[in-house]
Amino acid sequence: MRDVTTTPVDITPAPPAIEVPDLAELAEISRRFEHRPASAIVAWAYDRYGDDLVLAASFQDCVLVDIVYRTVPDVEVAFLDTQYHFAETLWYVEQVKARYGLNLNVIRPDRAPDDLWHNDPDACCRARKVEPMRRALEGKAAWMSGLRRAESAARASAPLVSYDVSRGLVKVNPIATWSDSDVAGYVKDHDLPVHPLSERGYDSIGCWPCTRPVGAGEDARAGRWAGLDKTECGLHL
Ligand code: SF4
Repeated sequence: MRDVTTTPVDITPAPPAIEVPDLAELAEISRRFEHRPASAIVAWAYDRYGDDLVLAASFQDCVLVDIVYRTVPDVEVAFLDTQYHFAETLWYVEQVKARYGLNLNVIRPDRAPDDLWHNDPDACCRARKVEPMRRALEGKAAWMSGLRRAESAARASAPLVSYDVSRGLVKVNPIATWSDSDVAGYVKDHDLPVHPLSERGYDSIGCWPCTRPVGAGEDARAGRWAGLDKTECGLHL
């Protein structure tokens, strides 16, 4: 006898599919750019993504801002104002903004200052960095960051171009291959303004409650969340 029992059909609409780019192509592009200038990677990204490309700048220096603005001057720059930046960082943002006439988007958290950084720094970073970054990148296709392999062991294998799975965006790290001396040389050669704290031992500059200067021989990011088992804020997964 024929089986006429039926299985209930799930009629819940499927979530809209995220268009995932060709990952093999991205990996190939990343490999191809390993020995090309950072400006070539920026030009490729703008050519492909146009106004759907954002530069997320931390403003601990302005090397990538300078490269991007020499190559594609209209790119939107996003800055996360966590409400815990050093006064020197906010001053530096204004200097760089005026120098380049930045198309600057300042994004702030949806909460007042509190003590979450002390009690639960992961939750604090989610509220003051990760969630605002989600808003900054909403509707975009790709983002650029100044992340470099030399900054820490956790970043040592960062690709130049990859797919940011958590955000469904292409991520571009144009200066991923640069050493600390490459950065210092570029700053000197192009007479770039320098963040006041970088001359006082702050090799990596984040929020004031979670940043200290580093000593000789330490990783640049050793002063971030020092004493905690935490090395990243969640922006660069
Ligand atoms: S770095 Fe510190 S203060 Fe800044 S968002 Fe993260 S936990 Fe909060």
